[in-house]
Amino acid sequence: MQTFDLICIGGGSGGIATARRAAEYGANVAVIESDRLGGTCVNVGCVPKKLFWYAANTAEALRDAPCFFADVPEKMPFRWQAFKEARDAYIARLNGIYETNLDKSGVALIRGFARFESADTVRVGNELYRGKHIVIATGGQPAVPAHIEGAARGKTSDDFFALEHQPQRAVIVGGGYIACEIAGVLQALGTPTDIVIRGERLLRAQDADIAETLADAMSAQGITIHRGAQVARVGDDGTVTLDNGTTLTADFLLWAMGRRANTASLNLTAAGVATRDNGDIPVDAWQNTNVPGIYAIGDITGAAELTPVAIAAGRRLAARLFNHQPDAHLDYDNIPTVLFTHPPIGVIGLDEAAARRQFGDGAVKVYRAGFSPMARAFAAHPAKTLMKLVCVGADEKIVGIQMIGDGVDEMLQGFAVAVKMGARKADFDNTVAIHPTSSEELVTLR
Ligand code: FAD
Ligand code: NDP
Repeated sequence: MQTFDLICIGGGSGGIATARRAAEYGANVAVIESDRLGGTCVNVGCVPKKLFWYAANTAEALRDAPCFFADVPEKMPFRWQAFKEARDAYIARLNGIYETNLDKSGVALIRGFARFESADTVRVGNELYRGKHIVIATGGQPAVPAHIEGAARGKTSDDFFALEHQPQRAVIVGGGYIACEIAGVLQALGTPTDIVIRGERLLRAQDADIAETLADAMSAQGITIHRGAQVARVGDDGTVTLDNGTTLTADFLLWAMGRRANTASLNLTAAGVATRDNGDIPVDAWQNTNVPGIYAIGDITGAAELTPVAIAAGRRLAARLFNHQPDAHLDYDNIPTVLFTHPPIGVIGLDEAAARRQFGDGAVKVYRAGFSPMARAFAAHPAKTLMKLVCVGADEKIVGIQMIGDGVDEMLQGFAVAVKMGARKADFDNTVAIHPTSSEELVTLR
């Protein structure tokens, strides 16, 4: 049986980052991966999604082109298959780069599906491997409803990226990150799209004003949002019947109702690792599970399911275990996130409602700016920009920034540094604006 200082189960964002950093510190490390290297982000997440987003942005720009150019064709069909081929080739290159980088770092790559045999041993096929430390970084997979008639006719986000042909009509169930991002892409590329949400609002986890601004933009783009509705039945003729009696027809039905942890097949009981009812693995602030020597990072923990979070948590864990930094751990406060909707949303810290709950109405002051950005001055459907600065206390510490609008995806990172450093509203006021930009609004709010 081979023994390693560290075994990372899962060669996605978190597992690879942890393994390579630990190897840099001199540890003898293996990564076990059952599928393509890079995990969800590279293969069926951030990367193919972002490439689609660029395509959709281009479609929007072409729609506005007649404001600036003559003889723009009215219809420019999207080259779905050619795009998919180029995208798949791009991802295959990334898969190769990940493998090369593991090799360069001296990390052993074990191909296959890992199951625990005991608290320090995992099985892959007929081979057993012992790890002095074991990191579980097996991520998650899309959740599919179990009790809806015909649910198997629906697809997941993984299936979406595998589609060979552009759908003619789409119905998307769910109102979170994936639902809103894919709806925006499909509609912009020319597939009329309906969204079905069980509650009254999209993006329930986000600021209400931001979510409604997105809903308005989506409606203006032609997306129909069915609120307070659930799917009752899916027919084999492409019909999707809602519990309010509405019947929709689509050749593409997407379940975008959250993700569930990849823990079921790990045989965690053999190691004694505890899970929550939904399969997530609970960890403390240092990514420790309940079993000494076994850690969990990334989506499997159910906390801030984002690639840079999995990477950052893994690198800090490697520093703690192999680089004499006993307190190294990720601070999960003020994690910036962008939703690649149309227009995009950028968020860090508390939204207005959360700040009011936490600090009380009297302590919270919200500065806001809503405007039509110059970039859309001549657009057919000018999407609004909304920015909110959530401040707390007499010194107006900034505890949250919520934005929707063109460019906020690239704007947020720099402002996130300021928030993380504890910026006050006065610090923003003292910063000279860059004109003419949308971002200048954040330092000129009154
Ligand atoms: P994963 O990347 O999922 O890696 C887990 C790996 O473990 C997989 O490769 C899997 O094959 C492997 N595995 C599972 N079980 C076993 C086993 N028993 N043995 C061996 N291998 C196993 N995040 C962002 O920050 N920005 C975005 O724009 C973004 N867009 C997204 C879009 C979509 C459609 C989706 C689904 C997710 C998106 N995310 C985004 C989230 C991001 O992809 C995840 O947060 C990130 O991939 C989590 O990394 P991880 O290492 O925890 O898991
Ligand atoms: P989300 O948690 O964002 O959204 C899940 C949606 O599904 C919610 O609208 C929820 O409704 C709805 N839902 C859940 N259960 C049901 C049900 N039984 N019936 C009807 N609707 C239901 O999950 P996603 O799958 O969209 O994304 C998973 C995670 O992946 C995200 O949280 C994010 O961390 C990450 N991600 C990040 C991206 C980025 O960084 N840009 C992009 C894509 C994913 P309700 O609001 O009523 O609960």
